[in-house]
Amino acid sequence: MTTENPTETLPYLDASRPVPERVADLVARMTTAEKVGQMLQLEARDDARHLIEDMHVGSVLHTSPAAVVQAHETTAQTRLRIPLLIAEDCIHGHSFWEGATIFPTQLGMAASWDPALVERAARVTAVEVAATGIHWTFSPVLCIARDLRWGRVSETFGEDPFLIGELASAMVRGYQGDGLTDPTAILATAKHFAGYSETQGGRDATEADISRRKLRAWFLPPFERVAREGCATFMLGYQSMDGTPITINDWLLSDVLRGEWGYTGTLVTDWDNVGRMVWEQHVQPDHAHAAAAAVRAGNDVVMTTPQFFEGAQQAIAQGLLDESAIDAAVSRILTLKFELGLFEDPRRPDPARIAEVVSSPAHVAANLELTRRSVVLLRNDGVLPLGGGCTPGPDERAVAPDDATTRRILVVGPNADDTDAQLGDWAGRSGQAGWLPDGHPRHLIETVLDGLRDRSPAGWQVTHARGADILELAPDPEGEFFPDGQPRPQVVVPCAPDETLIAEAVAAARDADYVVAVVGDRIELVGEGRSTATLELIGGQVALLDALAATGTPLVVVVVASKPLVLPDSALDAAAIVWAANPGMRGGQAIAEILLGLVEPSGRLPISFARHVGQQPTFYNQLRGQHGTRYADLTQRPAFAFGEGLSYTTVEYTDLEVLTPRVSADGSVAARVTLHNTGTRPALETVQVYVSDQVTSTMWADTELKAYRQVELAPGERVVVDLTVAAADCSIVDADARRVVEPGDFELRVGPSSVRERQLTGTFTITG
Ligand code: BGC
Repeated sequence: MTTENPTETLPYLDASRPVPERVADLVARMTTAEKVGQMLQLEARDDARHLIEDMHVGSVLHTSPAAVVQAHETTAQTRLRIPLLIAEDCIHGHSFWEGATIFPTQLGMAASWDPALVERAARVTAVEVAATGIHWTFSPVLCIARDLRWGRVSETFGEDPFLIGELASAMVRGYQGDGLTDPTAILATAKHFAGYSETQGGRDATEADISRRKLRAWFLPPFERVAREGCATFMLGYQSMDGTPITINDWLLSDVLRGEWGYTGTLVTDWDNVGRMVWEQHVQPDHAHAAAAAVRAGNDVVMTTPQFFEGAQQAIAQGLLDESAIDAAVSRILTLKFELGLFEDPRRPDPARIAEVVSSPAHVAANLELTRRSVVLLRNDGVLPLGGGCTPGPDERAVAPDDATTRRILVVGPNADDTDAQLGDWAGRSGQAGWLPDGHPRHLIETVLDGLRDRSPAGWQVTHARGADILELAPDPEGEFFPDGQPRPQVVVPCAPDETLIAEAVAAARDADYVVAVVGDRIELVGEGRSTATLELIGGQVALLDALAATGTPLVVVVVASKPLVLPDSALDAAAIVWAANPGMRGGQAIAEILLGLVEPSGRLPISFARHVGQQPTFYNQLRGQHGTRYADLTQRPAFAFGEGLSYTTVEYTDLEVLTPRVSADGSVAARVTLHNTGTRPALETVQVYVSDQVTSTMWADTELKAYRQVELAPGERVVVDLTVAAADCSIVDADARRVVEPGDFELRVGPSSVRERQLTGTFTITG
């Protein structure tokens, strides 16, 4: 390989020239192979050299820290010195950088309902990621989680399109900082475009049986929002719709994304989507045809289909593809690289900066604040806060109230001290990266057991028993590898209840004043290819909870689980239930602080909890018009609905007043409601505003979240809260798949959750 004359400043290397001119100059210098390679993004776990030198790849992913350094060095030696885009799934923190700040999963973050905190988490992540020489994160996920059996629920912001849009927009802002020239900015990715989560039976990557109207009604709006707000890249999903793999869905990619929304960013396929059309979906006869179809549909970066390199060149040679289509994609990729300024500064790893920013005290503090806000109290008969509520002490330990006698807490359950369950998917040793076999450093992670041991008041006793195991793994009977050579996850075999472990736990519970049982799922039950047929607490967990409940010692159930699970009666009737998702590195601290009353619980469910797996789906905003509201043998009501969550106080809602009973379609509905904290502890109340369009031209959801406000209330305080909803947001998608506001009568429902009985109702009319 020869390098161009280094003494001459080639036009594309001249930073003073406009980007389009630099792009055109560079594309004109590239060979066909270099252009095709520029579209490729391949895995470079330990060695990127061959990919860069022989295949001219434009981007790499899943690259170990050592390989990132090597990749940067190798690129600098290539003929045209085109910098690489280095990408990673840094989806709740810098997932696979040892010791980086790991936040709650996206679903946990969503329980905060707080865009500002989510934006800050993304900013922290970007600062850590950028320091390590990585430019691009495959986050956030904008999929709507509707079937809880799906393995990727923890990666989503839950079930509501409005909440997803608010939080996704915040996350993109956080990643992309002050714009792409900001050296701490990283490229955000809106994924998985679009409808991927609408799975059959909750199984991953199945056909998404979804009409264009349904897409436009609920699945596309969050994507449209971030597309218009400048999210730099979009990733496609794995699903097919109406028989068309998303990779070649011309309507969605060209007409909607590029056309209607005017999106000029970069599209990346999902993992081997182009190859899958050949070996899995059988809709293309070979890689040449698959490459041609994918390029024609407007894909830019082709993730992990090495055969695309030969395939695309053959497609050009065979006349299946015009090279100008490759030029267009390459131009978009190069534009992004120029806009990032990578030709001037390839943003290599910076050891000094890494030492300064990775898990810095400020980042740990930001994580803690978000984690505290992500914990949801679902039930409390008054047992919490423990001991009547403690106060912060001079050191880590809480101070018990004066009248509290010494307390004994049994911390029990398989997730009480499980660091993997606490971090969740896409972190450390969750399976996607091989260079962290031991996961993140133990001392950076506080489990619930750690939290209660270290933070309970002096003199309180904290004991521990495991009580139950969850699962064992066995080889998949269908073989160790998928046809494409990727490893198949092992299959899960639930453990039988272990009578000895249960007996030990029961004996310890009898000796305790409180039992804190930490149950849930494990990372082997989470992720791609790991959807679950059931939602129950598996293994010995239900038997353990039943036995603990029977002791009569007040039982606090802490659910550390990637997604809403079905809880047994012994948990539903327990003294208290807390859900913490996968709460990340500070999870144990936040949970302990809340149980002890050092911090008020304030999380709200971004997704409903089913009572039974057969109730799927349980999302709150379903279409009207079905026969009855229950099964013959079970209510249809979820165990806990979207928006629910308790405080250690009670907040009363009164006097809802709609100030604008008639508004025009371009006006705003204004209302106010009075909140009264009737208890003795402060609250952070999430005031939720739902709208119900009384008569619609086509069937529609009975109620949809349109706005919310988070309001702090001191004990006894009464506050009048102003609420606004734009009339333009009171829209439906009509039978022709157009979003319209239909004049007529509406209800405004305001309350602490989506539960109808807890809401106050006002009315307004949108005039023509
Ligand atoms: C997932 C994406 C992820 C990509 C790269 C895919 O299998 O669906 O969400 O970003 O792999 O790791």
